[in-house]
Amino acid sequence: MATLKGLAGHILRVNLTTGDIAKEATPVEIFAEYIGGRGVGAYLLFKELKPHTDPLGPDNKLIFLTGPVEGTLAPGSNKMTVTFRSPLTGTYSFSLCGGHLAPELKFAGYDGIIIEGKASHPVYLFIDDDKVELRDASHLWGKLTHATEDAIRTELRDKSIRIACIGPAGERLCRFACIQSDYHREFGRGGAGAVMGAKNLKAIAIRGTNGIEVADPASLEALVEKCYEILANNPKAQARRRYGTPELVDSTNAMGYWGTRNFTTGYFEAAEKLSGSSMEKNIFVGHLSCYACPIACGKVSYVKYGPYAGTKIEGPEFESTGLLGANCGVDDLGALVKAVEICDLYGLDTMSAGAVVSLAMECYEKGVLTKQDTGGIDLRFGQGEALVAILEKIAQREGLGDLLAEGSKRAAEKLGVPELAMQVKGQEFATYEPRGLKGMGLTYAISPKGAHHMIAPTMGPETAGNGSKRLEYKGKAALVREMQLLMAIVDSLALCSSMRFALGLKEQVELYKAVTGRDIDENKALILAEKIVNVERLFNWREGFDRKQDTLPPRMLEEPMPSGPSQGQVVELEAMLDEYYDLMGWDRQGYPTRGKLEELGLVGLL
Ligand code: SF4
Repeated sequence: MATLKGLAGHILRVNLTTGDIAKEATPVEIFAEYIGGRGVGAYLLFKELKPHTDPLGPDNKLIFLTGPVEGTLAPGSNKMTVTFRSPLTGTYSFSLCGGHLAPELKFAGYDGIIIEGKASHPVYLFIDDDKVELRDASHLWGKLTHATEDAIRTELRDKSIRIACIGPAGERLCRFACIQSDYHREFGRGGAGAVMGAKNLKAIAIRGTNGIEVADPASLEALVEKCYEILANNPKAQARRRYGTPELVDSTNAMGYWGTRNFTTGYFEAAEKLSGSSMEKNIFVGHLSCYACPIACGKVSYVKYGPYAGTKIEGPEFESTGLLGANCGVDDLGALVKAVEICDLYGLDTMSAGAVVSLAMECYEKGVLTKQDTGGIDLRFGQGEALVAILEKIAQREGLGDLLAEGSKRAAEKLGVPELAMQVKGQEFATYEPRGLKGMGLTYAISPKGAHHMIAPTMGPETAGNGSKRLEYKGKAALVREMQLLMAIVDSLALCSSMRFALGLKEQVELYKAVTGRDIDENKALILAEKIVNVERLFNWREGFDRKQDTLPPRMLEEPMPSGPSQGQVVELEAMLDEYYDLMGWDRQGYPTRGKLEELGLVGLL
């Protein structure tokens, strides 16, 4: 294949050990086979990383990639993917970040950046169209994320420059450290911030001034117009615009699948205080949007009263609200906003952070941890002040925080209570309680990056109608497979997942065609998605993962949900797993069969 329109044409390869920076031609053939973003990242990581590479060693890579439609007029065309071996899970991992970073990289002339090696001292990468250089960042090391961004913008004398950076949590190798971007967006999950910290890379700053050529501008414009019209009248999009992602609080809790107090139950009695309408009334003061987004789900929140008065953040997102709020038993919006601020400034994934604090709270209530262990913090569920205090300790690896910064799996094992960690393969659950949403249980179990809801977001279909389908396990394997393939396409195109309100698979394929000029149909797109999912699976197999790790904590499998609308439920995982493997063409250990690999043209990868 000679060309794919929409691509910028080059990828930067930056070796931090030697300081070499190479401008390579974008591998168009690989983009054709793996679409972009997540898909291309999975392939490159599999090919370029030696088996058993230390996630925090110099040989791990951070592969930042955009997608083919990124930076065009297409709605939500703004997600940057980073792919890496996770220090939290040891698996393949990827994380997505919205905002403006990815389009800016395309405007600078690059489809991606591959970071290798380790710098001898802190540095940051500055990409200014054709001019690319590593700059000293010794003066930035130790700074909080917002201060880092301010300092770089002042130094480069450009307020509009786009930045991704780590905070002290990444520098201190907290295993769930994130990478922050432009003050309010994150590469959240899996510990990419720790990988960046281990490489002595404090930040990436980007300025791009070019445009992107698309194959069929007229078709693209018509499609974009249609999407904007659909989104303007779509009730889900309207709710998202008004309340942000916390619009999901009411329905999730009402059906009894909102992880509460370390997933001891799925119903939070004080959910109303954390709902979107409560936030609108009490803390929202503005709206924010990513590049080319007609929804604008970002909310600016400000605490007016109480001990955290004056705290201002972007958010809180639904997942942060669930894991730092309900899952810690905290119903105080002020404490929630403060907790999110700490995560943002120090560079912590709010989801894993909330989950690890809730684990510590359960340990404290059960006597596994004492007040002496916590450094005097009264770490009972529901204590907003304790949540804030322990997060600061985690971010700085102080006292008990040093253990918790290792993630809930390692921390719980060290404390002798591995069964209390609500995680899969080392990554903490998202906010959905699997006993009240059976398909989500399977999603967490089979996710290649440890528990994560967006690998196969089954929430909508599982709760359609009167919501009773969520408690059935039969048929969920097919649903998970379907959603997993659809998300592999969305992520690889690098679209925001909320655009699915307007863009079904048919429209996504039309969009791809209008931008790239390549004529594929929906069936072909699904085949490409299946390739991506299988390459992810092969990476983990090579690292020693199989069916044994596709599991859930015993609480989900053996302890019936004690209260709420999902009372009495457990997850029937083994039956769903068998069915899922069969549908995927994998054997009962979860390994892709030779027949499946041949069908997908992947045998040559082995
Ligand atoms: S819906 Fe929200 S996350 Fe998605 S592109 Fe728009 S503002 Fe960004």
